[in-house]
Amino acid sequence: MKRRDFLKAAGGGALVAATTSGTAQARPNKEPPANAVGMLYDSTLCVGCQACMTECKKINGMPPEQAFGDDMWDSPADLSEKTLNIIKLYRDGDGSVKDRETDGFAFVKRHCQHCVDAGCVSVCPVTAMRKDAKTGIVTHHEDVCIGCRYCVYACPYNVPKYEFSKADGQIRKCQFCNQAGVERIDQGLLPGCVEVCPTGASLFGTYSDLKAEAERRVALQPGENTVYPRGMLNPGSGGYAQPGLPPHEKPAPQYQPEVFGDADDSGGTQVLHIAAVPFQKLGLPDLPERSFAARSETVQHTIYGGAVLPIAALAGLVYAARRSTVGKQEGDDSTGGQQS
Ligand code: SF4
Ligand code: SF4
Ligand code: SF4
Repeated sequence: MKRRDFLKAAGGGALVAATTSGTAQARPNKEPPANAVGMLYDSTLCVGCQACMTECKKINGMPPEQAFGDDMWDSPADLSEKTLNIIKLYRDGDGSVKDRETDGFAFVKRHCQHCVDAGCVSVCPVTAMRKDAKTGIVTHHEDVCIGCRYCVYACPYNVPKYEFSKADGQIRKCQFCNQAGVERIDQGLLPGCVEVCPTGASLFGTYSDLKAEAERRVALQPGENTVYPRGMLNPGSGGYAQPGLPPHEKPAPQYQPEVFGDADDSGGTQVLHIAAVPFQKLGLPDLPERSFAARSETVQHTIYGGAVLPIAALAGLVYAARRSTVGKQEGDDSTGGQQS
């Protein structure tokens, strides 16, 4: 068969399948589990002490990085195979006033967002990335990972990092301190970064409680006195026994009116952010409402649902091959008849 006939036949079959299958539906974004846990990071409470980074390295057995010279202790430039949690700085003009967009500065904490509808989980061909059915925590399981790095490309937050420095490299990312051998959440402990945070800028709780707390804060009037919990918000909520730490009280800043990580941020994330500076200025991406997982799975299921398209494409090829072969055979037969 000529190449043009081959492509026509395969394309014809595919077209038939695409127009006749019609069974695939656009899937909506997923919902978090009823007792999902999460973290609220309040940028206005963060003092940039980096205690959370140090504790994260201790818990995960990771070495310091010297991205800015040997005379600095731990000074990573970004998330990496050795740094699963980083405090970054926004700075404008003379950077003199905290939590101000112009001529000010602000902190932002970056680690895995533990997405509600996680792209990394959706693309992993061997279920090495998993979302826990109870907590909603997204963990990576290196015992089954094949190192394809699909998760790296599917993450809209640029979180999973591959250990290129090792011959048998693995994916590294924040596991919410609940991976095999650590299991702080299962043991009723706080995530390490929350436990050491002196101001409550990193706060643990159930996803629904944290969302309500974030919405409460962004609705406060600037200067209004309010209580800021530390450790776990509403200890015991959702059946989690993590401790609350003594709260503190202070006047509210001028918050941005939205919560980053709401459902309209690509399906939402179990790590929520609130801040006084616009989120995009802090380096958080502006994402569409539908999660990447929902969009890509809809496309895949439309194309491959019930294997209709591959079967129809094959049928088209068989038909074209048969037509071309039969025509040739008939020609051969008549030639043979003339010779005898
Ligand atoms: S932030 Fe990235 S690595 Fe973390 S759950 Fe979401 S998609 Fe996965
Ligand atoms: S939850 Fe644990 S692994 Fe994640 S950033 Fe905090 S300390 Fe690090
Ligand atoms: S420990 Fe808390 S205050 Fe200190 S840098 Fe981390 S989030 Fe900010």
